[in-house]
Amino acid sequence: MISYKELGLVNTKEMFAKAVKGGYAIPAFNFNNMEQLQAIVKSAVATKSPVILQVSKGARQYANATLLRYMAQGAVEYAKELGCEKPEIVLHLDHGDTFETCKSCIDSGFSSVMIDGSHLPYEENIALTRKVVEYAHQFDVTVEGELGVLAGVEDEVSAEHHTYTNPEEVIDFATRTGCDSLAISIGTSHGAYKFTPEQCTIDPQTGRMVPPPLAFDVLKAVEEKLPGFPIVLHGSSSVPQEEVETINKYGGALKAAIGIPEEWLREAAKSAVCKINIDSDSRLAMTAAVRKVFVEKPAEFDPRKYLGPARDNMEKMYTHKIINVLGSDNKLEC
Ligand SMILES: [Zn+2]
Repeated sequence: MISYKELGLVNTKEMFAKAVKGGYAIPAFNFNNMEQLQAIVKSAVATKSPVILQVSKGARQYANATLLRYMAQGAVEYAKELGCEKPEIVLHLDHGDTFETCKSCIDSGFSSVMIDGSHLPYEENIALTRKVVEYAHQFDVTVEGELGVLAGVEDEVSAEHHTYTNPEEVIDFATRTGCDSLAISIGTSHGAYKFTPEQCTIDPQTGRMVPPPLAFDVLKAVEEKLPGFPIVLHGSSSVPQEEVETINKYGGALKAAIGIPEEWLREAAKSAVCKINIDSDSRLAMTAAVRKVFVEKPAEFDPRKYLGPARDNMEKMYTHKIINVLGSDNKLEC
């Protein structure tokens, strides 16, 4: 058993309480490799932002569970080396599917886990979430539950249509499970293809495709039922069109990838939404930079020469999100 405290990590408890009070959201960036991790830590330190390093079950298998633990520990030490004496870094399991997966993460140094029972019947979701909470809280590990189903594809998680969270269930769910935060479904979705062009309208001023509005009324109703309770938004990449265009210009074949407008997320961050998950935008930033190098410098074969620019591009994106979308900058003392 490795406690996250030995690794210098923190859980989400205080971080979320401050974020809800302060009207901002903590970035939860998915990662599975060194360059992503370097970019996340550098941007968090440069902006003095707390940060959640988020790993799906598939990403954990990809990176290797043991290596990942040391990478998280390394992230804390790297942040200190970059000049942040007291970094606030969470290692969080994204979409834990079973009690065993969550337990394995808690036992190997995660400070926070999500148990996603949202696809289960309501009572089964409660029982599973409760079981994970009972185990996690013994070790001061925080737990995110989910009510409502998001559309889209993310690693092992996929659903064709979304089902909005039912605000009538949230008090019962939070009370009976004892979870520390709750992921809700208000129309965001997983992956880079969140909406089809047919679902969108065209903004006459910018020519941009605007997706159907998020169900802010559901968010508001949830907030009224559970005042001050930390709410989480999944599937919140914005799918920057300049990255999509770069990818396609240099040989990619992304078709009408459409995300959540950043101004909507900024609005959500001011509410009880205190954690916003961003994964696809990092994938796009990385792929765009790599493709550009491959086309412009076809003789290049040193991975540092294309992963380096990929890292720089991701760092730029993370920094932009922290400052302009989540508002989590300047929250650390370092
Ligand atoms: Zn998710």
